[in-house]
Amino acid sequence: MRKSLKAFAVFVLVVVCVVMLAACDANAEYYVLGTFLEIKTEGAGGAALADEINAFMQETELAVSTVMEGSDIYAVNAAPVGEAVACRPVTMEIVKEAEYVYDLTDGAYDPSVFPLVELWGFSPDKFVAGAEGNIPTDEDIAATLEKVGFRKCFSVDYEKGTVTKLVEGAKLDLGGIAKGYAVEKALSEVGKKQKALVNLGGNIGAANKTYRIGISAPREYASQYFAVVELYAGECIATSGDYQRCFIKDGVRYHHIINPFTGRPADSGVAGASVISSDGALGDALATAVVVAGTTSADKWVSATGCSIIAVNGDMAVSVFGGRTVECV
Ligand code: ADP
Ligand code: MG
Repeated sequence: MRKSLKAFAVFVLVVVCVVMLAACDANAEYYVLGTFLEIKTEGAGGAALADEINAFMQETELAVSTVMEGSDIYAVNAAPVGEAVACRPVTMEIVKEAEYVYDLTDGAYDPSVFPLVELWGFSPDKFVAGAEGNIPTDEDIAATLEKVGFRKCFSVDYEKGTVTKLVEGAKLDLGGIAKGYAVEKALSEVGKKQKALVNLGGNIGAANKTYRIGISAPREYASQYFAVVELYAGECIATSGDYQRCFIKDGVRYHHIINPFTGRPADSGVAGASVISSDGALGDALATAVVVAGTTSADKWVSATGCSIIAVNGDMAVSVFGGRTVECV
């Protein structure tokens, strides 16, 4: 009798502890880097941790925003040709990753594509969701292409921490890489103990736990997700697609991922691309590159970086590169 009482007391204690721990789970939302930041944490201290992650991301935005006066990228874009603009260490770190992916993808991911993004009306200050945009003329596209090409338009001194514009009107845009970078850094902020899921506008990172992640369907589909993957602790998944910032005119889809060679929205046939990698910045930029260039070089990029790539076309046919198991739903 006494034994079963003791067992009951232990059981109650365990239940109370579990309930208390569950009560410590936190769910926080913020707005940063032009999108929603959602942080789910398990265990005590989650709310403070989420605030810290948000503060770090706000700092990153102050450094790399194209529209905030006082950011490094704003200063680079406003500077005259030949002026070396001193940038914060965080900006230089992201530029270095951007240059790596620019080289890896033979320029499909190009951080100097911003003049084209602006021309098509997809920059953060110009895009109006739901409005039918204007199609630029061939002459405007050709003239703008002159100002695009990272190597041709910018010189970077990593030792001095400066970026110099080489071509009048050239502009940098780290919008295709900064969110992935910020999520990867958030995971190091979480440290080794707390279980957390960080979602910055579709760039998702898992800390200290495996999470199941649904990948959004780029077209009308029976369910919201067309695939589910396991994201292991320390990994990030980034998704890019032609369905997020876009408009349809005369049956043609125009969207915010621009082919830096044609000067027009990418039409590789890939409607959505997700990249899983422990390098969040790499995954983010590579996802953009897959939408631009398609999957022809996907095997090469997977073996160079160890990432996995999941691409889906407009007919919802899925291709997977790299070792990750993908459950199609
Ligand atoms: P999102 O920012 O919507 O999550 P992406 O990560 O694919 O999607 O980034 C798209 C953004 O990157 C665009 O809004 C634009 O600012 C920029 N961009 C567009 N085309 C390219 C490109 N070819 N290379 C690098 N950046 C690009
Ligand atoms: Mg990207």
